[in-house]
This record gives sequence, structure tokens and C-alpha cells, in this order.
Amino acid sequence: MADGGSPLYPDDVAVPVPSHGDVLVRVSVCGVCRTDLDIVEGRLTAQRYPVIPGHQVVGTVEAVGDEVDDFHVGDRVGVAWIHSACGRCAWCRSGRENLCPYFRSTGCDENGGYAEYVVVPAAFAHAIPAALPDVSAAPLLCAGAIGLRSLRLAELVDGQPLGLTGFGASAHLVLQLARHRFPASPVYVFARNAREREFARELGAAWAGDTADEPPERMAAIIDTTPAWKPVVSALERLLPGGRLVINAIRKSRADQGVLESLDYARHLWMEREIKSVANVTRADVREMLAEAAAMQLKPSVEEMLLSDANVALGRVARGEGVRGALVLDVGNRE
Ligand SMILES: [Zn+2]
Ligand SMILES: [Zn+2]
Repeated sequence: MADGGSPLYPDDVAVPVPSHGDVLVRVSVCGVCRTDLDIVEGRLTAQRYPVIPGHQVVGTVEAVGDEVDDFHVGDRVGVAWIHSACGRCAWCRSGRENLCPYFRSTGCDENGGYAEYVVVPAAFAHAIPAALPDVSAAPLLCAGAIGLRSLRLAELVDGQPLGLTGFGASAHLVLQLARHRFPASPVYVFARNAREREFARELGAAWAGDTADEPPERMAAIIDTTPAWKPVVSALERLLPGGRLVINAIRKSRADQGVLESLDYARHLWMEREIKSVANVTRADVREMLAEAAAMQLKPSVEEMLLSDANVALGRVARGEGVRGALVLDVGNRE
């Protein structure tokens, strides 16, 4: 993929049939996520191939299986990364279904939304608020929901400075959410690309600089959305005592892992600095993000491409090139 390959190919697939408790969704749009790239480049392994990627799916209910009461044909719904969880394990029972050992993902364990139709258990489908157009709702289903979860894990208190390393689909939503929830907290953005830094300032960042630049002050929490290790090491150095680094990445690249040899206990970890990863999302995260986005009139910055250009879209995500906010694929089913 990084060398410009085309790992995805179009295929004729039978329309899936909704089983007991499922809904069949006619896809309108599907957001593109860096995780899609992790799947096609093999950092994440699907249980079977070929698999249809895509886990930020918006469409309308086309048919329902037996005993589905919550959704009806024609309802506008979203499908997120969480396709199902067991509902019985200790994590599911404590509100952490994102950590369920039987967690099944959309677009990796199960076929996703780079397709005309997708099936999902009705209990894991999400009603889309009327205030959100399809293209605005799509990036909220992963970039937004995992961003919201990252911000929660950051345990920020209003007034404390927040840092964001990387400024892609998720961070541009987290910045807006943070400005809304913590109006007294300055947000500092680290991004390699000058256009991303400019975009961050437009959205209300108090400062935006390159990874190597010196920010105005240290931060109580930093959320990292980069695929690399260098920003992790420099973020640790910029945390206040007791500060938290939340890594929002399903996989990290091995390319610059050697930079971890420079990790110095006193400089990077001492003073109770913490590192935490954020894994998957719960249904509650997704629904909270959709409701809050509708209420605060959050407007994701979205660029639309055609489903037939999915390889081009993934290539752009791989190179971090020319994407302002989120990429969304138009599947062609829009009314
Ligand atoms: Zn994602
Ligand atoms: Zn479970």
C-alpha cells in the first residue's frame, strides 16, 4: 500500500440476509479510518479473507430480522467499530464492552461498510440524530467516538492545558469537543504538516507547532493520534507532574521504534506521569458522541470521495497527505 499498491478490489457479493436480531443496512456513506489501513497492510489481522473494510457506516434500514423492535425499514442508522460483544463477561458487565475478549469488529472480524449493504445486530446499530447529515455522522462513529473516549481517559479538568499530537480525523473532532467541554483549557497541537497546524488554529487551538517545537507550557494531558513513536517520547517530556498520555492508535508503526531507546526514566516517566492506550469503543461512547455533536452543532470537516476510489483514499491516509479532517466514501445509495 505504501508503495502505491491497490489492495482493495471491487467484487459482486450477495446481499447479506439479516438473521434473528439483525438489521440489514443499505449503505449511504462510509468514513475512512487509519485502522482500515492497518487491516489492509496487515498490522491487524482479519479472521478471514477477503474481508470488506469500513467501520464508520451510515445508511438506512432495508430489512430487519426476527424480534427487532427498535428499528424499522427506512430508519437512518450508523454502524461503528463495535459489531458485537458477549454481554456476559466481567468487562461487558462493568460497562467496558470495548475490552470484551469476544469483541467482534466491523470491517475486520465482520464485513464492513465499503459496500452497498451491511448487516449488524440491532442492539449494536445506532440511530442517527436528524440534525446530522450522513456525511457529518460518518466520522463521528469512530474518529469522534474514540476521540471522546480518549478525552474521557485524559481526565482533564477545565482550565488544565491539553495537548494533541497529530491532527487528523479524530484530533480535529477532539479539539472541538475539548473547546466545548473545557472552555478554559488551552489546547496545543503538534503536527508535522503546516496546513494541519493552520487548520488547528482555525478550529481554536491556542498554539500549533511542529513535533520538535517548544509549546508555551507543559500539559496535564496529551492525546496522541500518530502512528509513530517519536511523538510519544516528546509528549512524555511535555507532561506536567501527574500528567497523562493517552495513545489513540490501534497499532503503532515499527519504523521509528528505535527512538524508545532514548527513553529516560527521570525525564519521561518520573513524577507519576502515566501512559494509557485507548482500545475500541463502547456503544455508549458512540451514542454520546452522536448526541453531543448534534447538540453542540459540531461540524466535522469532511472530504467526500467515491467508493470506487477507496484505494486512492487509503493511499492518502497512508501518506498523511492533503486530508483536512476526515475522508468519507460515497457508496452511491444516497437518496
Ligand atoms: Zn476507526
Ligand atoms: Zn464480553
